[in-house]
Order: sequence, then structure tokens, then C-alpha cells
Amino acid sequence: MNSDPDFAVEIANLNKTYDVKNSETKRALKDINLSIPRGSFFGLLGPNGAGKSTLINIMAGLVIKTSGHVRVWGYDIERDMRQARSAIGVVPQELNIDPFFSPREILEVQAGLYGVPKKNRRTDEILKAVHLIDKSDAYTRALSGGMRRRLLIAKAMVHSPPVLVLDEPTAGVDVELRQQLWAQLRELREMGTTILLTTHYLEEAESLCDTIAIINNGELVTCQPTREILKSFDCKNIIITVSRPLDCLPEKLKVFDAEIQNDRDIVFRIKSSDSNIERVISAVVESGLGISDITTQESDLEDIFLLLTRDEPK
Ligand code: ADP
Ligand code: MG
Repeated sequence: MNSDPDFAVEIANLNKTYDVKNSETKRALKDINLSIPRGSFFGLLGPNGAGKSTLINIMAGLVIKTSGHVRVWGYDIERDMRQARSAIGVVPQELNIDPFFSPREILEVQAGLYGVPKKNRRTDEILKAVHLIDKSDAYTRALSGGMRRRLLIAKAMVHSPPVLVLDEPTAGVDVELRQQLWAQLRELREMGTTILLTTHYLEEAESLCDTIAIINNGELVTCQPTREILKSFDCKNIIITVSRPLDCLPEKLKVFDAEIQNDRDIVFRIKSSDSNIERVISAVVESGLGISDITTQESDLEDIFLLLTRDEPK
């Protein structure tokens, strides 16, 4: 195995077109360029149908790319297929596990599939790491949803891949379980694993990931450290409640990014760094409106996401 490449995953000019039917095609990925630093906790964020699963399934060798290059741990997924595959562990979205095997058996079978010699197997260590050692010999059908998901994570780790990829690990999972899984993933990260997860929960990306890439419609919209993303879209909403109901925005306010909500609230989006507030207030006063209240709202990842994935007007 390559020792310590700078990037756990490198993607260059990646395209994927699916054949649909009647010689129609669907471009699921368009010229993606992306580098995932070794040791990072990387979030791939995007709405349903954005292309997240396609991207990670290409890395894992489960979907064939149309063009471009992908390296996992420095290994080209085509030229060095065997090494690239052994460098990655994938946790699929669906909870499909054989219900009649015990967690220990499932891990042993998986290790066998990856050709891990008996003496090198880490079955107990992994079961401990995902807090399932007490359930080692239980039937999998008796495990709760959360335990099954942890078992899938364990299964992806039997060949000790330096890169762990999780496709929507907490989709449809309740809040408490989600917290447990997050704690689990943080522990794995601390042990040195590079983690890539896809999610459409903004809160998940914001709380776990140090770097976030956003894809929409098969295109990479942005890729930045989480902190930078939040900073560079440092927008504020200023909500001015006026003294009488409005049915349309007064002329003088049309120069701002503003809209009317609930008849009497005008919501202005401004950059926190601009000191636009005075101009906004003057314009409201000049429009002959009385001000009965002013409040502000900091933007969060939710707003940024909407802004970035908003379709351009046709
Ligand atoms: P996400 O995981 O972000 O929800 P996907 O990668 O699953 O997105 O899908 C991206 C796009 O490609 C979607 O429009 C989806 O319908 C299409 N797609 C995915 N898999 C296939 C397939 N096997 N055949 C045809 N189209 C597909
Ligand atoms: Mg998906």
C-alpha cells in the first residue's frame, strides 16, 4: 500500500453518462475535479439526484465512469484496480445484511472475500470499535437498526482501508441514533481514517465535516473548508417590520435583495461585512414607511445551500 499520499482521493475531469432508454442518456456527473486530503472528514453534500452515489460508486469500482481519472490512495481505479479497491471501504445506504449470520460470522466472511489471512483478521478489535462486541454471536436479525448500521461500518473496515466512504449513513435514522453514529465516526476519524460521507442533511455536514463539497445536477458547485464556506457566504437577513401592510416592494427598495413576508416584514439579505444597514433603513424611511421593529438573522449552511443550488432562472 502507498504510504501517506497527500490526497486520499483525487478526481480529474470525471464524467458519467447513464444510458436510460430509447437511446436517451442522463449526464449524472459533469467534469468533476476534486481532491480529498488525507486524514480529512469530507462531506459530499447535494440534493437527491445530484450525483453523490454515482460519484462514490465510481471510486469504489461499483459504477464504470464514462471519462476522466480517479485515484484512491494514489492508485488509479482502472490501472491499479486491485490496490485502489483494497484502499477503500464502502458503507452502502441500504441495510441489507444476511439476517441468519452473527456479526462475527459476517465480518469473517467479508475478510475472506478480501483475502485477509486468518492471522491478520481484526474481527474482535473492529467489533469493539463499533461497540458491538457484546452482540458478536447474536443473530443479526435480532439487532436494532442502529446496530445494523454499525455492523455495516464494521464490514467496510475488515480489510483496514485507509479511506472509509459512507453513503447517506443517517438517512431516515432518528435523532438519538444519529448522534451515536456521529460519535462513532468521530472516533474512527481520530484513529486516522479518512472519512467521506454523502448527506443531504446540512446539520450533519456542518457538525462533522472539516471540508464540504456541494454538488448539484452533476456539477461541483463549491469545495471549501466548512469554516470558509460559512464565512464566505457571510450573509445576514435584516427583517424590518413596517407600520402598515404592503402588497408590493416600494420602488426605492428594489435595489436591494429584498422581499415581503407576512404583509409587514421586509426581509433584506445583505453581506455582514458591508455596513449596508443604514442605507437599508434610510431607504425604508424615504419610502414613507414607519418602522415598528428591526431584527437580524445570521445565515447558516441551510441558506448557503439554497443559494448555491438554486436553479438559474430560465
Ligand atoms: P444522489 O445519490 O445524489 O441522489 P445519484 O448518483 O443516485 O444521485 O443519481 C444521479 C442521477 O443519475 C439521477 O438523475 C439518477 O436518476 C441518475 N441515475 C443514477 N443511477 C442510474 C442508473 N443506474 N441508470 C440511469 N440513471 C441513473
Ligand atoms: Mg444517493
